[in-house]
Amino acid sequence: MSFDVLSWALPSVLSLQPYQPGKPVSELQRELGLADIIKLASNENPLGCSPAVQPAVQAELAKLALYPDGAGFELRQALARHHGLDMAQVTLGNGSNDLLEIIAHSFLSCPHAAVVSEYAFAIYGLVVRAIGARLLSAAAHDYGHDLAAMRALIDAQTRIVFIANPNNPTGSILSQAALREFMQDLPEHVVVVLDEAYLEYAQEGGVDAASWLAQFPALIICRTFSKAYGLAGLRVGYALSSVAIADVLNRVRQPFNVSAVALVAAQAALADQDFVARSRQLNAQGMTQMLSGLHTLGVRALPSQGNFLCVDLDRPAQPVYAGLLRHGVIVRPLAGYGLPQHLRISIGLPHENERCLQALDEVLR
Ligand SMILES: *Cc1c(COP(=O)(O)O)cnc(C)c1O
Repeated sequence: MSFDVLSWALPSVLSLQPYQPGKPVSELQRELGLADIIKLASNENPLGCSPAVQPAVQAELAKLALYPDGAGFELRQALARHHGLDMAQVTLGNGSNDLLEIIAHSFLSCPHAAVVSEYAFAIYGLVVRAIGARLLSAAAHDYGHDLAAMRALIDAQTRIVFIANPNNPTGSILSQAALREFMQDLPEHVVVVLDEAYLEYAQEGGVDAASWLAQFPALIICRTFSKAYGLAGLRVGYALSSVAIADVLNRVRQPFNVSAVALVAAQAALADQDFVARSRQLNAQGMTQMLSGLHTLGVRALPSQGNFLCVDLDRPAQPVYAGLLRHGVIVRPLAGYGLPQHLRISIGLPHENERCLQALDEVLR
């Protein structure tokens, strides 16, 4: 007798499409045998991470037989200080994606719904639908969140609203004033997840966690060490919330969800705010370089407050994506986001940006 896994898996799970990450460099190497490949596909930090991380990690390597501190005491203490909050308001995650899943499991079950925007980060839909909860998506306005449309979708069963600010993959941002108005108008049974993965790069839109959490008890702010801190490979993110919400999240969180190496690395990275400032500056320069290069090529890009550009090719993007791969340049196709004519290109080092522009020029001819 054969075991038919498809008949046993949950229908809500069978309806999911696996998340499509940016193509790893090693994979393209295997496929095309290219030696010189650049990856501008996953919004990673082209500067790497703070030089303070290496020695911290090195010291921790002597203790790998021990479980990590499941409470993440020192990192949470440092994060609380950094944000002017109480330690009990900080919850750690194995990347902020882990927190998004923890939040979904804490507040959603089958009859419930979560509200997102069109072109929202794909993980929101995955964690909601995997539970069997409903995902309600509001049409975007100008490729960004339409908060009035999202508000209109909230019903008695809605438990979570996910907002990425800045948004990935479109790069749009909401002003503090618009967010505040939205928060003030929410029914009491709804938790708002404000995903600020790219906030270090943004010129505007950031909220002061301490005062906003004091004012809005149903707010959860998610941050990550994967982008401006340059630690995507180690997987560390955190949520800032009321003590009561953190207490709920900690019931679902796996006790050792952040590794010992990741804990010390994140702490060292957090302490080096100069590195974050350098990353921000490099990104601003690279953004200018890419926008001017794209303009010369006659390619439009959406305004972006992140470390990436969403370019509108005005024709099917898949062949352009494939052409760039043959030039050893990995970018991100967005058909899975309902944007089959767009590509997302991460801002790299100046020579990487230049190489991407040259490859794009050749591919578009
Ligand atoms: C990259 C990204 C994250 C961070 O994910 P990690 O799990 O922390 O690596 C979160 N939200 C959005 C919108 C992102 O683009």
